[in-house]
Amino acid sequence: MRSKPNILVTGTPGTGKTSTSEALAEATHLRHINIGDLVKDKKLHDGWDDQLQCCIINEDLVCDELEDIMDEGGNIVDYHGCDFFPERWFDRVVVLQTENSILYDRLSKRGYTGAKLTNNIECEIFQELLEEAKESYREEIVVAMKSDTVDDMNMNVTVITEWVSSWGSAT
Ligand code: ADP
Ligand code: MN
Repeated sequence: MRSKPNILVTGTPGTGKTSTSEALAEATHLRHINIGDLVKDKKLHDGWDDQLQCCIINEDLVCDELEDIMDEGGNIVDYHGCDFFPERWFDRVVVLQTENSILYDRLSKRGYTGAKLTNNIECEIFQELLEEAKESYREEIVVAMKSDTVDDMNMNVTVITEWVSSWGSAT
């Protein structure tokens, strides 16, 4: 068993993965890995998708890059996808969820419009990330958490931090 757990924080863009992961990293002293930033910094992509207006990430390169650090443990991985990571990497998979109208406002503020905006709202309505997480990991490690308000976020951080503190002491 790893001496420190690995946690995946996933969910539709705008649900609060990065804000939650940052707060969680501060509370737990685990390492926050923002996959989007990592892909840009280390150029782990195969160019740009014009239609989706995002990088085409190279999933194999991302997994190779993280292999050693994930073996070590103590990571919070932040990404809006979860089906290409090795299942053995994670001890907890957190799926953040946000009410549609709140998510719509957050993504509009971020400058999302048109298909990019509606695709993401649909992704949330159909709970695509929760489905993907349940298909990719054991159900007992997958937890859905509401992320509508700052209070929700603080509560989520508290709950996950308590879980991290108890890691390793479970029999
Ligand atoms: P993601 O990483 O999932 O795309 P972010 O953490 O970047 O989401 O959050 C998107 C925006 O929504 C940010 O402006 C952030 O401050 C805000 N936000 C995120 N989570 C919450 C929350 N639980 N309550 C209120 N605002 C939030
Ligand atoms: Mn983010």
